[in-house]
Amino acid sequence: SAGTAEPEWLWRSGSLVPWREARVHVNAVGHASVAAVFEGVKAYLAADGRRLLVFRLEDHLRRLYDSARICRLALPYDLDTLRGAVCGLLTANGYRQDAYLRPWAFPQGVIREQMVPAGTICEVLVDSWPFRSLLEAGGGCRAAVSSWQRISEAAMPPRVKAFSNYHNGRLALMEARENGHDWPIMLNERAKVSEGAGACLALVRDGEVVTPSLTSGVLPGITRDTVLTLLRDLGVRVREREVDRSELYLADELFFMGTAWEILPVTAVDGLTVGDGVPGPLSRRLAAAYTDLVRGRDGRHRHWLTEVPLP
Ligand code: PMP
Repeated sequence: SAGTAEPEWLWRSGSLVPWREARVHVNAVGHASVAAVFEGVKAYLAADGRRLLVFRLEDHLRRLYDSARICRLALPYDLDTLRGAVCGLLTANGYRQDAYLRPWAFPQGVIREQMVPAGTICEVLVDSWPFRSLLEAGGGCRAAVSSWQRISEAAMPPRVKAFSNYHNGRLALMEARENGHDWPIMLNERAKVSEGAGACLALVRDGEVVTPSLTSGVLPGITRDTVLTLLRDLGVRVREREVDRSELYLADELFFMGTAWEILPVTAVDGLTVGDGVPGPLSRRLAAAYTDLVRGRDGRHRHWLTEVPLP
């Protein structure tokens, strides 16, 4: 959940600026937003309470550059600069709790063209706010397959983390909420399972984990990759392949995975109870393993953690 308190600073195109003064001209929204790309990153307070641990920062920044490349946007800052921006912002804002980070890039200046040209120079921002992790709460959610189809590579590449892609997820989410569910699950143009509105999805059946392949119309989720690694650490068999809708109905466990969602068990799908209707044993084990990892208790994947000392 997003905190409501205004942070003191954000990072904008090379320097820290007071959050309240980070303004643009009215003509800088609208068509400019169509091309804009972003990331969502989390910094967790370490279990020792002495530092923040930014989770897989380099992987998130690399995906931001991938998104910019596909959208043909020019980001005039290198990876080290953006890494420094993220860490410097956490320190400047004095966070002593979990914080969400939102690096994003949008065409610079006043944009009146309908089609932002290729090679347009972007401003890069890093914004941040506190969040409360749901990992330890152990809750679940009710999901439903959406009547909205996931955007396809043939129209708008789902591999890109572009603001425009969220029109698709938003329509699906509103439909799900209207029908009394928490979250949608979208099928792709081949009627195979793709992902949620802002998270990837996996199912457990007969002790094996199955998740839609990266060519199923999904964002190449960093949490998805983390979970697959944790499962291999646990000795659990994992398959990445096309997944049918009806497989969701036969799953022993089902869970969303994403930076914001973390690991969120699905306890009902299209009104059918999943397993016993409570988060299953593997989902709970994974949530515990993920917590240990992001809070620095599990030393096996230390290279995924960027340490920022508390102010
Ligand atoms: N799919 C979509 C559409 C998303 O917005 C997100 C969140 N970035 C994810 C999947 C999960 O990706 P990640 O684990 O990298 O946050």
